[in-house]
Amino acid sequence: MITRTAVLRQTPAWQRELAQAVTDPAELLVLLQLSPDLLGPARTAATSFSLRVPRPYLARMRKGDPQDPLLRQVLPLAEELQPAPGFDHDPVGDQATMVVPGVLHKYQGRVLLTVTGACAVHCRYCFRRHFPYADANPASDHWQPALGYIAADDSIHEVILSGGDPLTLSDQRLAALARSLQEIPHVRRLRIHTRLPIVLPQRVDALLLDWLGRLRLKAVVVVHANHAREIDAAVHTACAGLLDAGVTLLNQSVLLRGVNDSADALADLSEALFSAGVLPYYLHQLDRVAGAAHFEVSDAGARALMREINARLPGYLVPRLVREIAGAPGKQWLI
Ligand SMILES: *Cc1c(COP(=O)(O)O)cnc(C)c1O
Ligand code: SF4
Repeated sequence: MITRTAVLRQTPAWQRELAQAVTDPAELLVLLQLSPDLLGPARTAATSFSLRVPRPYLARMRKGDPQDPLLRQVLPLAEELQPAPGFDHDPVGDQATMVVPGVLHKYQGRVLLTVTGACAVHCRYCFRRHFPYADANPASDHWQPALGYIAADDSIHEVILSGGDPLTLSDQRLAALARSLQEIPHVRRLRIHTRLPIVLPQRVDALLLDWLGRLRLKAVVVVHANHAREIDAAVHTACAGLLDAGVTLLNQSVLLRGVNDSADALADLSEALFSAGVLPYYLHQLDRVAGAAHFEVSDAGARALMREINARLPGYLVPRLVREIAGAPGKQWLI
C-alpha cells in the first residue's frame, strides 16, 4: 500500500532535475557544441563561483553560439578575473542590515529572509556571489529568532523569501515557514524572489501550488528572467499554475551588456513576460560586484534604453529602472 507518508517522502521530479544540473564546464561546451578554447578560462573563473545550469534551461540555448544571451548569463569567462575599480564584495551593504541571522531589514514595512544560500542556476553577474551564506542562513529549521523579530515589530507587513533561491528548499520546509509567518497577525503578504519558475519550471508542481494556494497571506512571486528566450512553453505552464493559485506574478531583470542591452531585447522580454501572465517590475542596474564589470551598462545608456521602450510599450510593460544603494530607504529610481 502506498501511504500518504510514502508519497510525501518520494523525491519530487524537480529535485532530481536540480541535482542533475550541469556543473562541469567541459560538459557545457560539449552539449552546446562550443569551442574547447573556452574551457581554460571557464575552469579558472569557476573556481571562485562555480558553474551551475539546470538542463531545462540549457536546452533553450542555441548550439554553437558563444554569444547566446542565455549562455552569457551562466558561462564563466576570463573577464571575471580582471579587477575593476569600484567593484567589490558587498556592493549593496547587505551585511550591515542583517538584524538577526537570516533577516535583512533595510526598508520600511518589509523584511527579507535569506532562507538558503543555494540556487538552481549560478548567474555570473549575481551580487550574492560573495555573500557569506554560512553566517546568513539559520541552520535548517531554526527560524525562531527571525520569527520573533518579525512578531515584535508590527510595522512589518510583508516578508520576502530570498536567498539564494528559496524554491530550492522542499515544500515541507517552505510550507512550515509560511504557516509560522501567517500566525503573525500584522504580516499580510508573503513574497518569494525566485528564478526557479524560469530555469526549472517543473519546480512549480502540485505540492507547491497546494500550500501556496491555501495561505491566508497574499502571495507574490517575483521571478527573474532577463531575455525573452528564457520564456518557453514550460514556463508558461508554471506561471499559469501560480496564477490559478491566486499568486500575483512579477518579474525582475538585470540590465546586462551582451544579454539584453537593446530596446528590442527589452521590449521582447516585456511582451514574452506578459504573454505568460507576468508583469515587469524592476530592471536593475547591475550591482557593482567584483567579477561582473564586463556586464555593466552605463547609466546614460540605461536611460536611453528606457526612453526607447517607454515610447514603444504600454506603460504597464515598462519596468522601473532601479539601482540599489547602501543605506537608502528604498531602491533608487533612475529616471
Ligand atoms: C530589494 C529589497 C527589498 C524589496 O524591495 P521592493 O522595492 O519592495 O521590491 C526588501 N529588502 C531588501 C533587503 C531588498 O534588497
Ligand atoms: S538565481 Fe538569483 S540569487 Fe541565484 S545566482 Fe542567480 S541572480 Fe543570484
